[in-house]
Amino acid sequence: MTKSYAVQDGSASIDVLGDVSLHVEPSRLVCVAGRSGSGKSTLLNIATGFLEPDRGVVHWEDVSVRELNADQRARFRVRLFGIVFQTGALIRSLTAIENVAIPGLPHGLSRDSWTRAVACLELAGVSHRSRHFPTSLSVGEAHRVALARALYRDPPILVLDEPTASLDGQSADSVVELLRGLRTSGKALLVASHDGRVIECADTLVRLD
Ligand code: ADP
Ligand code: MG
Repeated sequence: MTKSYAVQDGSASIDVLGDVSLHVEPSRLVCVAGRSGSGKSTLLNIATGFLEPDRGVVHWEDVSVRELNADQRARFRVRLFGIVFQTGALIRSLTAIENVAIPGLPHGLSRDSWTRAVACLELAGVSHRSRHFPTSLSVGEAHRVALARALYRDPPILVLDEPTASLDGQSADSVVELLRGLRTSGKALLVASHDGRVIECADTLVRLD
């Protein structure tokens, strides 16, 4: 697929993605690597259907994303993906555990959804912060809470934008361990990162520069 952005006055466009192609599957980690500005986030946004490529197609299972209307796209996305954007986007008025259990809200926050949220926080290594509000979490902790939320629905595909970027060495190592564990448990992982530790454990490496 390819993607260009128009610059603001419309006089030109910048090519962000050249011809790039990738495929995610269960128990595999695809790492999209490249310097800052090389188009990693753009590629993840295209893969998750938030952006349209200029050329090329995105298939979710056997369905072309272009053929889906907004509702269908949203429903597919919720079923297929757990997504952690670069900026973790926690809701400030909710505690960590409430943020994680948000996907359970339409069904009421039952004991089950609470238990599940605790399990996800434990998996992400941040259960000791479950009652904290986002403003009292470190950047790294907030990122882990966002990761726990992505795990909450047990989606088959995890899409993570620079999951180790805001973490110290030891925390980054434990996130990489978590990614390995998720892969072993059968998840498909699509990870944007220029971190050597993530690149090293990738099954497929897509270099953008
Ligand atoms: P990365 O995640 O690798 O740092 P991005 O995908 O965020 O790269 O951005 C790739 C390039 O596209 C950058 O030069 C960025 O400035 C530009 N870009 C990103 N989003 C937009 C946008 N909405 N409009 C115009 N240019 C954009
Ligand atoms: Mg980015």
